[in-house]
Amino acid sequence: MNSYDIIIIGAGPAGATFARIAEKSQKILLIDGSSDGKPCGGLLAPDAQKALACFDLTLPREVLVDPQIFSVRTIDLKTKQQRWYQRLYINVDRKKFDNWLVSLSPFNVTKEKGICFKIQKENDGYIVTYKNSSGETINAYGKNLIGADGANSIVRRSFFPKLHTRQYVAIQQWFEEEREIAKPFYSCIFDADTTDCCSWSISKDGYIIFGGAFAPKNCRSIFENQKEKLIKFGFPLNNPVKTEACMVLRPNSLKSFCCGGDGIFLIGEAAGFISPSSLEGISYAINSAVMLNNALLSDKKDKHKEYKRATKSLRLKLIVKNLKCPLMYDPYLRKIIMKSGFSSIEIYQK
Ligand SMILES: Cc1cc2nc3c(=O)[nH]c(=O)nc-3n(C[C@H](O)[C@H](O)[C@H](O)COP(=O)(O)OP(=O)(O)OC[C@H]3O[C@@H](n4cnc5c(N)ncnc54)[C@H](O)[C@@H]3O)c2cc1C
Repeated sequence: MNSYDIIIIGAGPAGATFARIAEKSQKILLIDGSSDGKPCGGLLAPDAQKALACFDLTLPREVLVDPQIFSVRTIDLKTKQQRWYQRLYINVDRKKFDNWLVSLSPFNVTKEKGICFKIQKENDGYIVTYKNSSGETINAYGKNLIGADGANSIVRRSFFPKLHTRQYVAIQQWFEEEREIAKPFYSCIFDADTTDCCSWSISKDGYIIFGGAFAPKNCRSIFENQKEKLIKFGFPLNNPVKTEACMVLRPNSLKSFCCGGDGIFLIGEAAGFISPSSLEGISYAINSAVMLNNALLSDKKDKHKEYKRATKSLRLKLIVKNLKCPLMYDPYLRKIIMKSGFSSIEIYQK
């Protein structure tokens, strides 16, 4: 059985960032099971851009998609109100973005395609069992384990199952974009009858992605119900070419976060770090990986305590975002804010 200083499960932005920046003297195994890429809007918000800027990283052109859009059309389906807001996102191909981050891993990182399905504590470390891309079952030993495996983290479920957070199912469908029918655009959709979270549409390289986050019960039929309303609203959402779904977390209290313990560290969405208002999670994934690396490099003896201390600012930021949620998600307050036009922009020649 191969032995490592650190085993990272999950090579999304959190796991790939940690692998890239960790101490080079450490032997690291990075395992990821994804084949199709993670369902995602693929929008890099200013915080994610800043997280990349802090490493002086520049985005290769292949990662970008067409078009780049500067406003989001916000729609309340119940009141039929619409407003446009300026947004400074970068529109990327999420799979290519993740692959690019992983490609930056240095020589001390062994990358494995595989799905981890069992983790056991053994002496001072952990035995991780995974099925690799050839279907073989492999065991690997790690002195430390990093759970960077996203919302449905097996690491968190196995060792820290009591996470008090809201869980939604995010469903996305892809449609071929007919530009003669609709100009490319981003939208953010509120529909209190189908979800207390939000939905979105994004134009990407000849496709329109329409997605939303729904409570798990009957989520698929609720998604279809909302899609029907949008078709009536003029959205070209017929004949999907791809449907994808995954869990998404929505933290609502300090108990919604878990940084790990006993040689296990959780980073990114596995730790609960994602915005409850916008579901933006890439910056939190990158920043928590940086904070963990700083904690492990520090001279503090208790690395868990140090990582928890370092991530306090992330937790507080997310709780503040949660406190702001009623302004976006309470139908009455939203109606007043949209009606006032506060911080919206005027669109000429709609
Ligand atoms: C539909 C949707 C749209 C979103 N849109 C945006 C957006 O536009 N912008 C934004 O900033 N955020 C967005 N988010 C949030 C963002 O995608 C996540 O918060 C972010 O990807 C978290 O990064 P991570 O590295 O922690 O985990 P992830 O990106 O989820 O990566 C986890 C990785 O672990 C792997 N993995 C999981 N389990 C195992 C296992 N057992 N064995 C091996 N590998 C495993 C997965 O394959 C995956 O590659 C969106 C989320 C959803 C659901």
